[in-house]
Parts: sequence; C-alpha cells; structure tokens
Amino acid sequence: MIIFKKAADIGQFLHKTGEKKTKTGFVPTMGALHQGHISLIETAKSGGDLVIASIFVNPTQFNDANDFQNYPVTIEQDIDQLEHAGCDVLFLPSVEEMYPDGLVNKTPYDLGYLETVLEGKYRPGHFQGVCQVVHRLLTIIPADHLYLGQKDFQQCMVIKKMAELKGLKTKIIICPTLREADGLAMSSRNMRLNKEARQKAVEISRVLLHIKASVKPGDLSALKKGSVEQLTRAGFKTDYAEIADANSLELVDNWDGKRKLVALCAAFIGEIRLIDNMLL
Ligand code: AMP
Repeated sequence: MIIFKKAADIGQFLHKTGEKKTKTGFVPTMGALHQGHISLIETAKSGGDLVIASIFVNPTQFNDANDFQNYPVTIEQDIDQLEHAGCDVLFLPSVEEMYPDGLVNKTPYDLGYLETVLEGKYRPGHFQGVCQVVHRLLTIIPADHLYLGQKDFQQCMVIKKMAELKGLKTKIIICPTLREADGLAMSSRNMRLNKEARQKAVEISRVLLHIKASVKPGDLSALKKGSVEQLTRAGFKTDYAEIADANSLELVDNWDGKRKLVALCAAFIGEIRLIDNMLL
C-alpha cells in the first residue's frame, strides 16, 4: 500500500492511473478502523477498483469539542488492517493539508430539510463539516466510486445531495451496516465503551429490531414513544428514536403501509453518543 500525506503527491499519482483508465474506488474514514470500514474496502476491491482509503479526523464536523478530543486514534493498527484487506493507497493528510485556508467554511452547502432533522437538528453544523471534508477529499481524489456505510444513513443522503449540488461525477455506493455478534452496529466510538456500557449498548439494535417487527400501518406515535422508554430503561439518554421515509427522511407519524420506512436512533450511554438505523 502506498501512503500519501500531500494532496499534490496523491494528485500526481492518480493522474497517472487515470491515464491508464484504471477505475478508482474511494473509502473516506476517520480511522480507528473496524470490520465495518474494512467491508467497504472489500466491496471496492471486489468491483476491481484501485482502492484508495483516507484517514482524517475532520475537526469541522465535530459539534462537540470533547468528542473530537477523545476520538480514538489507532493509526498503526489501521495501516495493518488496510494492508491486510488489500487497500492500494492510503491518503493520510494533516489538517493544514486539508484546510490550507484555515477551518472556515467559505461555501455553505444548501442541504435544505436534511440539515434540520435528526442528526442535523441534534448536531448543528455537523453536516456542513461533513460536506466540506468530503467535497475537499473528492477534489483531491476524484474517484469513480465512493463507498459509504448505511450505518450513517442521513450522512449518505447528505453526501449524495452535496455531490448533486456540486455536479460531482463520482458514483455513490451505499454498503450495509456490519454488526457485532450481539447486534451492536460496529463503530469507532464503541472502543470508548467500558464493559458495562458495552453490554447496555446493544439495546439500540434491539429497539430497531422491535420497531421492524412491530410496525403496522396507522399511527406510529406509541411505537416511537415506547422505543424511547425502552432506551431509557436500558440506561440511555435518547436524542431521538424516529421512523422516517427512507427516500426523503420526512418523519412519518402515520404510515400508509406503502412508503419505504427507516427507523433511526441516536442516544447517549454515559458520554458516548451512538447512532444506528434499520430499513423496515
Ligand atoms: P467513520 O470513520 O466513522 O467516518 O466511517 C467511515 C465510513 O465507514 C462511513 O462511510 C461509515 O458509514 C462507514 N461505516 C462506519 N461504521 C460502519 C459499519 N458498522 N458498517 C459499515 N460501514 C460503516
């Protein structure tokens, strides 16, 4: 695996591969890699792409300074895992390399409704930071395919919208969420859970499974309220347990039995905030 730290260097390398008409697949990450990230690398690999990963803990997408400071960093293990998975190129930029003009967002992205609900509502500014970093990364690495995880359902919609707004040609491929044996969605933040919190954390996926098993046409408010109560009983402080239209993310209170739905949760166990979702 070739490691680049400078945008100009990876740019030059990709220019040469472009001349050979090699298709490129890009997997952006914030590191602290787990099997969920590696599954994206494997999917990209299986499509025959030249696979490029990036590791960059993006300061502009953290609305909570504490979360940024405590974000796990495991760079040596990450490199080993990427090598093992057959990743071809790793981009490992510094903050200065990513944001040569400083951390200001000069081009706010018009994300409309998507920025007002769920993660947008509870993490103000988060999606602007996500768009800023992915836009910059795709300018440096204009890959044919961008592989994203369904684990961050709303983020996938936001990045699709940003790509549309900016007329980017990269095709976005959404990959399924990988889970631990007990159902907990894999996440870098799981590393920060102590034993007791780790045991409780599984309740988020149980809530989602319960919604999936019980959802029926008609009023959904009791199901949503019951989900928050289930999380509270398990020791969570819940931001939201919602059911939304899977295509638009419009919150659905009364289901016609036809619209494709997704259930989404965000909740704190101690000071660790976990998110998960499930298509219904
Ligand atoms: P992150 O490092 O958390 O920014 O995630 C980098 C990419 O990996 C994003 O596209 C995530 O949606 C994806 N990802 C994170 N967790 C999982 C998971 N459990 N399964 C599949 N993809 C994931």
